[in-house]
Amino acid sequence: MINTETETAVTVSKKYFDVNKIREDFPILRKKVHNKNLVYLDNAATTQKPEFVINKINEYYTTMNSNIHRGVHALSQTATEAYERARIQIKQFINALGKNQIIFTRGTTEAINLVASSYGRANIKEGDEIIISHMEHHSNIVPWQLLCKEKNAKLRIIPINDNGELIFKEFEKLVNEKTKFISVVYVSNSLGTINPVKRIINYAHQFNIPVLLDGAQAVNHLKVDVQDLDCDFLAFSGHKIYGPTGIGALYGKVELLDAMPPYMGGGDMISKVTFEETTYNELPHKFEAGTPDIAGAIGLGAAIEYVSNIGIENIIEHETSLLEYSTKQVSEIPGLKIIGDAKEKAGVLSFVLENIHPHDIGTLLDFEGVAIRTGHHCTQPLMQRFNIPATSRASFAMYNTKEEIDVLVNGLKKTIKVFG
Ligand code: PMP
Repeated sequence: MINTETETAVTVSKKYFDVNKIREDFPILRKKVHNKNLVYLDNAATTQKPEFVINKINEYYTTMNSNIHRGVHALSQTATEAYERARIQIKQFINALGKNQIIFTRGTTEAINLVASSYGRANIKEGDEIIISHMEHHSNIVPWQLLCKEKNAKLRIIPINDNGELIFKEFEKLVNEKTKFISVVYVSNSLGTINPVKRIINYAHQFNIPVLLDGAQAVNHLKVDVQDLDCDFLAFSGHKIYGPTGIGALYGKVELLDAMPPYMGGGDMISKVTFEETTYNELPHKFEAGTPDIAGAIGLGAAIEYVSNIGIENIIEHETSLLEYSTKQVSEIPGLKIIGDAKEKAGVLSFVLENIHPHDIGTLLDFEGVAIRTGHHCTQPLMQRFNIPATSRASFAMYNTKEEIDVLVNGLKKTIKVFG
């Protein structure tokens, strides 16, 4: 049995926030795009990776590559230790009680599908209702829709107001004796709205309804404490928090995870296999069939270590100032309308410009070296709610600066000139 619980995190930097120093940690930020300095404002899609993370992945492949959990040889032991250490880093980061509550997945999407398939298939019956909100990412709509189709259950939607906030009173009205599950986004990727998830969870728990939080945009912008929130499940992706793509995690309460059937069958998730019957491994391995993304998990652990050492509070403060500054700057642009004006908001700025399609905005900004996202952001029902096909979205990370926002704003002004 490997005991990695006692290992302490390596210190990357002091808890002192210096954006220029942080930028030096991200090699890609030195890149030129169309001969301009890269201004990367597409962080809600994916964040850039610090050298610390890149080096940890490199170190894994150059010094310890081997399969985990099954080998008695030295490399396998080292790789297992590093992989399990990443699990502990996640556990500490979100303040879970035990490391067996952290299941590695490919990301948020797989984590939600795991719960919908495993918990959902076992517990949702004909006539039951599942509540989501109008601002969900497709990853938190389609898995529930598939389940509802299979079980003849019903999906109920929490409406939102024109500012892009959930209407809590309407949520309360939706909850009834048929409600068997609630799955909501913590921070909206399209609007930046921070939802009152603690209030939702408190309310749901009065009726013993479990709540899953889509934390894809939360863990990188907020201090997420699963014990304090008392959420039943939390899903997130590594690549949105400066880690690699293809890795993420599902947190779940032990009693729920224990009672859930496996999601996938294969190696590592079993205790004993015969042709007649198979017994399953203990948590979390029951849900980790097959060889996982070992390097990815180690990379995610490193990303969490990096973020922890910068200090999530420092990151929040910096991103809040960027959001305030950018909101003020773009508000002065004639014909620009911000989509999503919630009181509680994290580093996302979505907008539309009169008579200019977001794709044209994105293309012209690209010539200025500015990377933003344009489109429906995998939230088509939300676009329908605002009666728009798409938005332009700038989203911020710890390495962005006010000077970069100025480049964005100047780029927008140029775009308006071009389109007359
Ligand atoms: N939910 C939200 C709120 C997201 O922003 C995203 C990614 N854009 C997802 C879910 C899906 O994440 P992934 O593609 O990493 O599984």
